[in-house]
Amino acid sequence: MATFATAIACIDGRIHAPLSTWVRRHLGVDHMDLVTEPGADRVCARGDDRHLRAILDRVEISAVAHASSTIVIAGHADCAAHPVDPDRHHADIRLSLRRLRPQAVGKTLIGVWVDEHGEVVEVDVDTPVGMAS
Ligand SMILES: [Zn+2]
Repeated sequence: MATFATAIACIDGRIHAPLSTWVRRHLGVDHMDLVTEPGADRVCARGDDRHLRAILDRVEISAVAHASSTIVIAGHADCAAHPVDPDRHHADIRLSLRRLRPQAVGKTLIGVWVDEHGEVVEVDVDTPVGMAS
């Protein structure tokens, strides 16, 4: 049976292939389900609750249909929908994990940064309470 992880990432097409490659290799899954949102790290960190709920409703479909137990939240360089410096992106990626934690019971949350060369770097990991990393 195929295995899946779920990513929340910007609509920017430059990051989808490298992100999928990283997720499949790093997490050892067959496929990456992708929920796109312009400036995903901004919305997850600072968007209003209704906006976040709309994203999580899509994540839930992946979780239920594909038994995905990991959610990857990505920020990226040169983001048109969140034009801030990398440090601010990294802060928002970390904030996204903390904000999603109560909504993602039992799931591993991973924040990643996709740089201007398409390199994917892990920013932060939040494992479910009671599970070893
Ligand atoms: Zn973007």
